[in-house]
Amino acid sequence: MPTREFLSHIDLAVADPAEAIRFYELLLTALGFARTELDSPDRASWRLIAEDGSHFEIEVRPPRGTPSARRHNRNDPGIDHLAFHADSPADVDSIFDRLTAYGYPVDEPPRHYDYSPGYYALGFDDPNGIRLEVVHDPGTNP
Ligand SMILES: [Zn+2]
Repeated sequence: MPTREFLSHIDLAVADPAEAIRFYELLLTALGFARTELDSPDRASWRLIAEDGSHFEIEVRPPRGTPSARRHNRNDPGIDHLAFHADSPADVDSIFDRLTAYGYPVDEPPRHYDYSPGYYALGFDDPNGIRLEVVHDPGTNP
């Protein structure tokens, strides 16, 4: 049974929801996501709807119980990083400009990588330490 879409959603538990919501609003709206309404002030959700009607959603929410650590460590077992598609190298540069304009650190500025021809990406952490990447990969974005 092949899956209908790539992913349905990702929920991120964050130490400081207000800070994370500001960050993801900035990032995800630039990537074409639209904010969806939730009935809680410490949760937010953004949806990306593809041309074929399929959709993918990212939600930010507080942790359940007492977190074992305030920051995510990508070197521990679990998620290493999440990568978002960009349509062009210019779009990758635009995300870099947007993040730095708002004072968010980007420790891997846009550059080419030899993973595949034309692979161009930047890497940065969200306020909770979750590593994110925005990549133009011509193999997936012809
Ligand atoms: Zn990656």
